[in-house]
Amino acid sequence: MRASKLFLSTKREAPSDAEIASHILLLRADMIRKEVGGVYNFMPLGWRVLKKIEDIVRQEMDRAGGQEILTSAMQPAELWQESGRWYAYGPELWRVKDRNERDFCLGPTAEEVFTDTVRSSITSHKQLPFNIYQIQTKYRDEARPRFGLIRSREFIMKDAYSFDKDEAGLDKSYQDMYDAYSRVFTRCGLDFRPVEADTGAIGGNGSHEFCALAEVGEEEIIYCDNCGMAATAEKAAFADEKMPEEEMLPMEKVLTPGTKTIEDVCSFLGVPQEKSIKALLFSVWHEGSDDPEYIAVFIRGDRQLNKVKLVNTLDVPEFAVQFADEALMGPLTGAVGGFTGPVGLHDCRIIMDSELVGARNMVCGACEADHHIKNVNYGRDFKADIIADLKLLQEGDRCPVCGAPVKSAKGIEVGQVFKLRTKYSESMHAFYKDENMNEKPMVMGCYGIGVTRTMAAVVEQHHDENGIIWPMSIAPYHVIVTLVGIKDEAQKALAEEITAKLEDAGAEVILDDRDERPGVKFKDADLIGIPVRITVGKKAPERQVEFKLRREADLEVMDADAAVARALEIINAEKRG
Ligand code: ATP
Ligand code: MG
Repeated sequence: MRASKLFLSTKREAPSDAEIASHILLLRADMIRKEVGGVYNFMPLGWRVLKKIEDIVRQEMDRAGGQEILTSAMQPAELWQESGRWYAYGPELWRVKDRNERDFCLGPTAEEVFTDTVRSSITSHKQLPFNIYQIQTKYRDEARPRFGLIRSREFIMKDAYSFDKDEAGLDKSYQDMYDAYSRVFTRCGLDFRPVEADTGAIGGNGSHEFCALAEVGEEEIIYCDNCGMAATAEKAAFADEKMPEEEMLPMEKVLTPGTKTIEDVCSFLGVPQEKSIKALLFSVWHEGSDDPEYIAVFIRGDRQLNKVKLVNTLDVPEFAVQFADEALMGPLTGAVGGFTGPVGLHDCRIIMDSELVGARNMVCGACEADHHIKNVNYGRDFKADIIADLKLLQEGDRCPVCGAPVKSAKGIEVGQVFKLRTKYSESMHAFYKDENMNEKPMVMGCYGIGVTRTMAAVVEQHHDENGIIWPMSIAPYHVIVTLVGIKDEAQKALAEEITAKLEDAGAEVILDDRDERPGVKFKDADLIGIPVRITVGKKAPERQVEFKLRREADLEVMDADAAVARALEIINAEKRG
């Protein structure tokens, strides 16, 4: 490819809404262009990268026994109503109507469509197991699209679905996908970690996320170096701390003027925060109801609420739980902003963290302005409607498996695998007949890779102040031959010869023949991140060129044929990933 013909216009600056390296560099390198918020167009170089990632995904899926199909991004509402997700998926589901007012959505994922596809043709155990997948554009009307390809509203996802006879079959299918994912992300050059994960709107139970480690990642990973436990913070269980036995003292209402936070009240009363109870008030919007249900959540004052655990406990979608409007909730329940406690609260469900069961003589709000109560005890003074682990496990807390202090890291979720079990096959009646002609639900798994997000995650991990440093396996081109003097016949001839030799050997090459200063050419080559650069300049008559790897600082002057041989050796060693 001649750079003079390449549809490419690199930029010195990225727009100010681009905050992180991958977003900035993909825009500056003209790999992607923004259409509207959260929607991007792929330019030639970016599209080449994306296709290479897709190819790696495809190869590994096929190798694991998957079969590729393609379904429509337009999905009829009826399928989503059947599974119960037309409501449960919430405002992220991109709903559209046709001219006859019939409801559709632009698919954010495709469990319903795949289950529907399978139920119409699979009837016997003899046809199981199998795995079908697609690489398809997905739509999610994200509340906050940001970070370019990392959280967009239109993105490319590979989604696979496995159908098995039983749990043992699912375990094998799941493991095969887990292994395939590890190979995919390794080949893309990512430093990643599989961690136990919550299942969110997809459902089922048993799941791992594959997280590319990166400071800008939105996923918090909690891990233990001692026993190997690794989970998303959303998922990580919390081992309750056993509080010392104490005799229950009589309750005592105390004046605590203006102490609306745990810090304030604890310092005012001189008690440690672990002896206090924190209240969090929510409204829960149940399906079909115009008014919310108000709930009060209580956890130890020094803990953080894990909202995912709360919504799982309540068995409602995450979007249906919002902080309560205290002005509305107060008169109905007795809650008083900053002074709410479980004693004196009425007409609202109390959801309590399990750690409070054995906590003695705690301080909590008195449901009266400027007052708290001392020596409150669960069981004697109040009851709870639901008791569950609602705590967020944080760096330094005890590992739920072995008790050692845990660590935390940030990651970008690039893929997730789920054991759906029979969630969709039962609700959508995807049954098969076993050996004894008994009807049984198929046992399903589903497996997603964010293909476009993976591209951004790679840039996040592979860049420097000058631009992207693509791993060879997904680089848009392997080599850039930089021709310094475009009018110098000797230089031109040598650059052409090197390009031809490389291309004949199967390498993908850009010949930078543009009428630009060498500095501009070097800057662009660095920005777009081509792994190998061969510069043809003044020493062309002696067949001497500069050879430089994008990932290394030093360059080497060498014979042109040696440079070609060296480039081919590196490409062949690295292009598969
Ligand atoms: P997140 O928690 O980041 O919103 P998710 O868990 O909802 O993602 P899944 O339903 O597991 O996402 O989708 C499978 C994969 O699709 C994810 O692992 C991720 O790589 C990718 N993905 C999901 N949402 C987006 C998005 N808005 N933009 C780009 N990629 C996405
Ligand atoms: Mg996910």
